[in-house]
Amino acid sequence: MLSDYHMHCKPYSPDAGDYMDEMAQGALRRGMTHICITNHVENCTQSPEFPDQFPPFGDWGWEHLWMTYAGVREKYAGRLDIRLGAEVGSPHYLPEEGLDIYARPELEFVIGSVHNLRHAKDFYYLNYPEDFDNFRPAVEQYLDEYIELAGSGLCDVLGHIGYMQKYMARQGKGFDMMLFEERLRILFKTCVEHGVGIEVNTAALSDTLGDFLPQPSVVKLYRDMGGEIVTVGSDAHRAEDAGSGIREGFELLRTCGFKYVCLYEEHVPKFVKI
Ligand SMILES: [Zn+2]
Ligand SMILES: [Zn+2]
Repeated sequence: MLSDYHMHCKPYSPDAGDYMDEMAQGALRRGMTHICITNHVENCTQSPEFPDQFPPFGDWGWEHLWMTYAGVREKYAGRLDIRLGAEVGSPHYLPEEGLDIYARPELEFVIGSVHNLRHAKDFYYLNYPEDFDNFRPAVEQYLDEYIELAGSGLCDVLGHIGYMQKYMARQGKGFDMMLFEERLRILFKTCVEHGVGIEVNTAALSDTLGDFLPQPSVVKLYRDMGGEIVTVGSDAHRAEDAGSGIREGFELLRTCGFKYVCLYEEHVPKFVKI
């Protein structure tokens, strides 16, 4: 069993390079048995000051997405278990909209990801200061957003905690997320209390950062605090990356003491032995 529970596809994710069928094919080539398609839904993070943000997922999109999904699921039936989910940007910024998305009948699984602080650009676009202390309050605020998100009921797992570490690394900068252990402990306590999981995101393994997100010591902290719900995702935007790093992600989970990885059906985690 190998599951990749985070990937994007054309045309629903503006930054994706391949269609859903191609993503499924790519995942199959890498030996995946289960995947979940999780396109960007940035309806809760729209801000007139930052037009670079992805546009909201349009009403036309849901039915179109469902039709595409139904066809692909059928095509790969018996070979690859395909589910439909979404990666929703900070649903707690607009909770009513976030709840509408979470409750969409098409979606079995929702990753909640903080890509930007409130009224700020996506971390992807930032220039990181030389002196980390100048950036520290942003990381604190970032983790506070995840704490709120974890208690919001608007997602099933928290996506790629430490997202900015990927972009900082590209600028030759970085920090140890364990500097924020106190906040992380509050975060994971909230997760465990609310039945919210985390994802181990493998996309930055092949990036400058060369590591998982969250970093392994943070994954271990989550486990040590009683965290059991975990998914692994490549965050692939192209077919050739589908399933990339998933084996390594499973290995990390075993090293951290996890006995199970989660699949999702209608927002309910299914624990599968690893
Ligand atoms: Zn993301
Ligand atoms: Zn993603």
